[in-house]
This record gives sequence, structure tokens and C-alpha cells, in this order.
Amino acid sequence: MSLLANEPIGPLDRTPNSTAPQAAFTYEALPYRVVFGEGTLACAADEADRLGIKRALVLTTAQQHADGSRLGRVLEHRLAAEFPEAVMHTPVAVTERAMRVIEAKDIDGLIALGGGSAIGLAKALSLRSGLPQLVLPTTYAGSEMTPILGETRDGIKTTQRSHHILPDTVIYDVDLTIGLPAPISATSGLNAMAHGVEALYAPEANPIVSLMAEEGIAALGRALPRIVATPSDRDARRDALLGAWLCGTCLGTVSMSLHHKLCHVLGGSFDLPHAETHAIVLPHVAAYNAEAAPQAMRRIARALGTPDAALGLFALQRRLNVPVALADIGMPEDGIDLAAELATRNAYANRRSLDRAALRELLARAWRGEAPLS
Ligand code: NAD
Repeated sequence: MSLLANEPIGPLDRTPNSTAPQAAFTYEALPYRVVFGEGTLACAADEADRLGIKRALVLTTAQQHADGSRLGRVLEHRLAAEFPEAVMHTPVAVTERAMRVIEAKDIDGLIALGGGSAIGLAKALSLRSGLPQLVLPTTYAGSEMTPILGETRDGIKTTQRSHHILPDTVIYDVDLTIGLPAPISATSGLNAMAHGVEALYAPEANPIVSLMAEEGIAALGRALPRIVATPSDRDARRDALLGAWLCGTCLGTVSMSLHHKLCHVLGGSFDLPHAETHAIVLPHVAAYNAEAAPQAMRRIARALGTPDAALGLFALQRRLNVPVALADIGMPEDGIDLAAELATRNAYANRRSLDRAALRELLARAWRGEAPLS
């Protein structure tokens, strides 16, 4: 896809100084089916039948094994085995163990319940076996909406994109998210919001994706403070899950920029936790790109109901009581230079060119937990 010369503007942008809507763009829809609602876990057997799954392997983390077993009971005779060993970053060794279960149990379909870890394992297995995937997301990370798989071997992460990776059917069940602890809900929700933010200034940004991005950011912005205050607030949980779906679609549809590159570098170099890293870095990247992507910033600010996108994201981060400093999640101070250097290598497309000194300043502020340089 070609780089668009002008800032993409969606049809909703009615700010006085907006220019004409984008005249030409490419939009590619992802082929997935979604069942959304409360109590939709009960649809798992029907959805498995639609995919022709007769011998399912249920995938979860160890922590969510009990929910996986509940899903197994819903599947009745379609359950062939459970594999409660999914972990973060999809290590190839775990995938290979699960492949042996697929062969031993004559599995013909994968059903993952959980966050990006369980869903990543389903994707890795589907890529190797060609088996259909039915997934039930329980966090807001958005992996279920993307044809992207990150795998680790000997501590090295490689990422690939293929339509064979995209789950076939997604069941969003609000009930499965009620127990997501408030701190994980907050960081996971900000992780989702980052997909929407970067979609608004992506090289392939287009009016359709921008609509999803702005609505996704708005839904999460409304919902997350309510979830942190009252984790059992069902309306807020529904809003957040819908926002996560929309922002996950953004992640799967257009390419991501500096924010995702920085988080990839920080996670890979210092083994920092995925969602927390996203939550801390996001306001700083918004500030970095503010002048280069003014229309995107206006849409983010409008979605959050604040005058300034970066400061609005920072205020939200504070309100959600998530960690605000990279220092607090284990990044060493002497890693700042290395991260700034790595971020400029094999750089992702970004609206503002990548300046090592400016990135160093961005990272130093994020390391100390200061407000973004807005
Ligand atoms: P996760 O799946 O690792 O879950 C975090 C922890 O929360 C786990 O212990 C899990 O069992 C638990 N948990 C999840 N849902 C719960 C619930 N509702 N109630 C109680 N506990 C629950 O975390 P994540 O942030 O969703 O996923 C992170 C992983 O996903 C990383 O490996 C990341 O690289 C990957 N990811 C991939 C993509 C993609 O498009 N490929 C997108 C986003 C994230």
C-alpha cells in the first residue's frame, strides 16, 4: 500500500480547520465471524459445529484452567482434550508440546479461552496444523482480531502476518471479563487503546478504520475508570469489550507505528510486562507525534473529551492507577540509550521521523513517570 501524503481524515472530522475527506484509500476487511453478548459461552458448541469441530483441544493458561474446563462441559462430546499451558509470548517449546497432543488425540479444531497468551497459542497451532480456531477473549489485548503471530524461541521474538493466523470465529462473552482484575483490566484496556491511537495516523489509515479507532478509544475511555471503580459494572465491561474489539480490528487492519515499535523493543530487551509497557508509553508517543498528526490528535482528544490528546491519555493513565514509570516495572535506567538506539533500527513507519535524541528524551520521561512533553 502506498504512503498517503496527507493526514487521513474520516467523515466524522468536522473540526473547523479540517480539510476535505480522504479522496482515495484502500480498505481490506478481515474475514471473521463474531458472536457478542453476555452468556455467549453457551454458544460455543453451536459455533464449534459451524466450524466442523468434532474433537476440540481447549487452550488456556494454567490460571484459567477452571474456565477452560467449564467451556469443556459446554462443548460436551466435542471436547477431546484440554491444554492449560499457554504462557506469554508464545514460546515455540510450548507450541510443540501442544502439537504432540493434537496428533495423539486426533484433534480437528482449536478453542482458546483467555487473553493474548491463549489466543497466541491457538494461532501458532493453526498455522502449523491448518486447524480451525474458535476463540473466547477474556482480556482487551485484541489478538483475536489480528492475522499476526509473535513467537519466541530461545528468548528471541519473531512476528509474522498471514491470513492463516486469523481466528475463524470469536465469541465475546462479557461474563468472561468480569473477573479480570481491575489493574489488568486497566493496562489491558490502555493496550487496546494504543491500537486505535496508532491506527489514526497509520500509513494506510482510512475513514473506515478511523471510525472504529475513534469509537473504540471513546468506549474504552468511558469504561475503564468505571471498571477500576467497580469491576463488576456490566455496562462498563460491555463497553470495554466492544472498544477492545474495535481497536483490535484496527491493529489487524493497518500497520502500527512508533508506539508498537517502542513497546516491542522494551518488552524484548528488558522483559517488561506487555500491557503495562503499552499503558506507560502511550501518552508519550502521542505527544511525540502530536505536531505531525494533528487530525489524529483531534480525534483522540474528542474521543476522550479532553483538549489535548497526549495529556488526556496521561490523565486517564493516572486515573486508572496503573504504573506510570518504566522504572516501576523493571526497566534499568541505563537501558534508555539502548532502547532509543534500537527504536531507530528497522524502524516502523511513523508520522514524525525518528530522532534518537528526542526518543531518548521520550523514554527518559516515561522511565521517570513524568507527564509527556506536550
Ligand atoms: P495474557 O493472555 O497473558 O493474560 C494475562 C494474565 O491474566 C494471565 O495469567 C491470564 O490467565 C489472566 N487472565 C486473562 N483473562 C482473565 C480473566 N478474565 N480473569 C482472570 N484472569 C485472566 O495477557 P494479554 O495482555 O491478553 O496478552 C499478552 C500476550 O498477547 C503477549 O504475548 C502479546 O505479545 C500477545 N498479543 C498479541 C497480539 C497479536 O495481535 N498477535 C495482540 C495483543 C497481544
